[in-house]
Amino acid sequence: MVELGPLWPMVHPETWLYPRREGLFCAPGGFFIDPVRAVDRAVITHAHSDHARAGHAAVLTRPETAALMRARLGTGRTIYQTLNWGEVLRLGEVAIWLQPAGHVLGSAQIAIEYAGQRVVVSGDYKRQPDRSCAPFEPIACDVFVTEATFGLPIFRHPDAADEVGKLLASVARLPDRSHVVGCYSLGKTQRLICLLRDAGWDGPIHLHPAVSTMCQIYENFGIGLGDLRKLAEAPSRGAIVLAPLSSVPAALGDPVLVQASGWLRVRKRALQSRADLPLVISDHADWDGLLGTIAEVGAPEIWITHGSEAALIHEIGKRGRRARALRLIGYGVEDGQ
Ligand SMILES: [Zn+2]
Ligand SMILES: [Zn+2]
Repeated sequence: MVELGPLWPMVHPETWLYPRREGLFCAPGGFFIDPVRAVDRAVITHAHSDHARAGHAAVLTRPETAALMRARLGTGRTIYQTLNWGEVLRLGEVAIWLQPAGHVLGSAQIAIEYAGQRVVVSGDYKRQPDRSCAPFEPIACDVFVTEATFGLPIFRHPDAADEVGKLLASVARLPDRSHVVGCYSLGKTQRLICLLRDAGWDGPIHLHPAVSTMCQIYENFGIGLGDLRKLAEAPSRGAIVLAPLSSVPAALGDPVLVQASGWLRVRKRALQSRADLPLVISDHADWDGLLGTIAEVGAPEIWITHGSEAALIHEIGKRGRRARALRLIGYGVEDGQ
């Protein structure tokens, strides 16, 4: 019996998709993914500043990410090209498309096909529900490139709705004090607002100027955030304010300081934080989310971009798959986690 060979000679993805100084480079497509230095052609997964940098000549991404990047980085000389979800584009010798990653508004996984192999670069992602962005859609692939921000078994994120319930319980218990919630301006803030609305808080939410531009872009893309007001208009008592904890206005008196981050799962981090009330809310996959996703996409090979690689590589190996660290640098520094 004659076995038919593959259509293409087997070209292992590590020969055509590999780290360079600028970032992860796709040679047959002639582009970098989330490069950390300015390049001619970049494909951008999402608008967090460690993934979306200024100065590229051409950027291919989602319309939401292009809008967020323009707002954060200025218009500059960059030319943006945007793709609908699932719209396939030929770039050089590869086919490429974007699929939701569920991390923040516009966050995309990048699927690349070349020489009969499919690689999916997931950027940052999460599996918890979040109505402020399109949910993660798994794509079957030969190589899955994953982050590992919370790649340790201790990280199991609780239900975010329960965490927001703790905030509203505190608001009800301490009606004379304002609550200032420190959280990252892109993604965490808008998710938190959605969670507050879904939990029944339809009163005003006061925003530091640093976060209001991002909220406006969410609203422009159809994510309703309700009654948002300026920080300067906050009453001295009983307000819910979203602002960096480093810039709490004196006019708020003695507010309850709240912080929302996946890192607060670690007792030491929670104690180091200035917060009276730590909320464990993360926009990244936790340990179970990482392993569940890796199982779901079925890739025999996993590449890990940033985070705690060692434990994840070990666990993936136990489950009969090959995993390796890509050792990309420059990520995870300003991400909100
Ligand atoms: Zn990241
Ligand atoms: Zn991110």
